[in-house]
Amino acid sequence: MSTEPMGLGLPLISSTDIGRFVECDGCGADLTEDTRTGGFIFTNHAYGPCCAGRMLRSIRGYGEEKYIRGTCTPGMAFADWIRELRAQRPGGNEIRVYGSPA
Ligand SMILES: [Zn+2]
Repeated sequence: MSTEPMGLGLPLISSTDIGRFVECDGCGADLTEDTRTGGFIFTNHAYGPCCAGRMLRSIRGYGEEKYIRGTCTPGMAFADWIRELRAQRPGGNEIRVYGSPA
């Protein structure tokens, strides 16, 4: 039986595999079929090539480079890189919805 990340014993109502879908957390652009390389993961957000330059300047301005958890493999499409990361952890490709305590 699967449990939700907070460990409160909430029932799993649905889990949806998001498939190939990749979105930029900076601007919301749909990057699923975008072939551009670049981008990175900062804290829990994935910034695509569309926002990487702008975000990086901001992050450096605050001295927060240590929160960059990964950078897109050079030459690899951002979306392919994100999909590869998801594939490395169980449930990494799912959106899960939990209900109220019984
Ligand atoms: Zn963006």
